Amino acid sequence: MSLATDQRERCPLCEVEIHGQGGPADRVIFSRGTPGSRSKLWARVCQYLKSDAQRSRCINQDPELRGDCRPGDGFEEIDAIQIGDSMP
Ligand SMILES: [Zn+2]
Repeated sequence: MSLATDQRERCPLCEVEIHGQGGPADRVIFSRGTPGSRSKLWARVCQYLKSDAQRSRCINQDPELRGDCRPGDGFEEIDAIQIGDSMP
């Protein structure tokens, strides 16, 4: 339970809603698929914005708010992780 009220922000460029208090724990509501994190949104959408004008309108450009990217944030295939190779 938290005392602060969640806010809802909508990114006009990425077409997502971000629910939360402004930080890595925020939930990002994508137009399709399951909700994710700000870092997932960054990995999939925001980092590809091309111009400064676009970036200035995006609400997910602050690295402190989105935190570190986590495995699975991007589109990379799961077989990039070779399970078993490092096992004795
Ligand atoms: Zn954005």
